[in-house]
Amino acid sequence: MRRVDSSAALFERASQYISGGVNSPVRAFRSVGLTPLYIDHGKGAHVFDVDGNEYIDYISSWGPLLLGHAYPPIQEAIRRELEKGTSYGACNAREVEMAELICTKFFPSVERVRMVNSGTEATMSAVRLARGFTGRDKIIKFEGCYHGHADTFLISAGSGLATFGQTSSAGVTKHIIEDTLVATYNDIESVRRTLEAHRGEVAAIILEPIMGNMGLIPPAPGFLEELRRVTEEEGVLLIFDEVISGFRAARGGAQELYGIRPDLTCLGKIIGGGLPVGAFGGRADIMDRLAPLGDVYQAGTLSGNPLALAAGITMLQTLAEPDFYTRLEEKGQAFEATIRPILDRYTDRLSYNRVGSLSTIFFTPGGVHSNTDAKRSDTEAYARYFRGMIERGIYLPPSQFECIFLSMAHSREDFDRTATAMDEVLREVLG
Ligand SMILES: *Cc1c(COP(=O)(O)O)cnc(C)c1O
Repeated sequence: MRRVDSSAALFERASQYISGGVNSPVRAFRSVGLTPLYIDHGKGAHVFDVDGNEYIDYISSWGPLLLGHAYPPIQEAIRRELEKGTSYGACNAREVEMAELICTKFFPSVERVRMVNSGTEATMSAVRLARGFTGRDKIIKFEGCYHGHADTFLISAGSGLATFGQTSSAGVTKHIIEDTLVATYNDIESVRRTLEAHRGEVAAIILEPIMGNMGLIPPAPGFLEELRRVTEEEGVLLIFDEVISGFRAARGGAQELYGIRPDLTCLGKIIGGGLPVGAFGGRADIMDRLAPLGDVYQAGTLSGNPLALAAGITMLQTLAEPDFYTRLEEKGQAFEATIRPILDRYTDRLSYNRVGSLSTIFFTPGGVHSNTDAKRSDTEAYARYFRGMIERGIYLPPSQFECIFLSMAHSREDFDRTATAMDEVLREVLG
């Protein structure tokens, strides 16, 4: 058995002074019935906890660490910037380099950009801008998509008969419930119906073009194209939340992979190279409504922070290498090929979705194409699977409804060890 005494002791201390012992709920390991691990350091695709256990890490900090932990060029860039200072509350050259990289090397739809400090800030700012630009109040989001923790997004579909959605958090006001409409992902009719019922009131539709927060659910063929068409017809802005898919699904994110040009794009995670960075951007005529040019206010004391951007710029420069995304896709294929024989033994119990380096094993058969399919998963079986895997040094997402995040640092040996563990654990859990 692994020793977890030091992690357990830290969690006990943490629980006295940090609410729930954690600074973000998924870290609490509640849905897998364990207490959290405290990570001491990482190297490549591996993390090491305070008890000295080593794990193959499939979370990659929930996406940012596409090049693995402690990637030397990023560490070196941070060190160099650190020598000069950490924050000036004034313009710095890193911001210009970063904006040029995003607009010219990665996202042609982003004509202008603003840097922020998290994905949440990016999405909430993009929605305010969309409202200011269109003069409309309502937005449409999709059940199961996550856009950070701003009030506007903490709404889920109501019961079949209810007109309005319900909050997925206490503390969200009635007005906000009224202004967030919830449609069904991969169901364009649900979008049409919602738009018809609220003609002229909807500022924007926001979605993860590749859903990553119900586990991985790719867009159905034609879904994004239809969304682009109806939004254009109705004068509604289309916002792609590419906080996960940006810099991962392709060099230009899901919008490049599926050939759709959104009006606004939200970025986060990978863009900071492991430091806190987000960004939003898009059409120049929309972005120029932001203060100081326009009437939509948006600001940030630490936005465009040079230390964080030094990490992010180094990350993006590596990703801009010509064959990077070919190699990343090969990594995803190699992972799938290694676990495929095991998955094929359990077609009556499991489904598997993969887009490049993102994937999810769902504990439900028959394929997962929607939020409803995903919800059929046997989360109890997933929890047992998680516990068996972590005992064998494989650190998976501590929830069925999250993605496996591969990095370039994962090796064939990591995949082989993972498959061996998976084989044993699934025999125990599924028979
Ligand atoms: C993680 C995430 C966010 C929120 O980003 P934070 O940096 O955690 O605020 C927003 N949208 C998507 C799709 C995400 O996965």
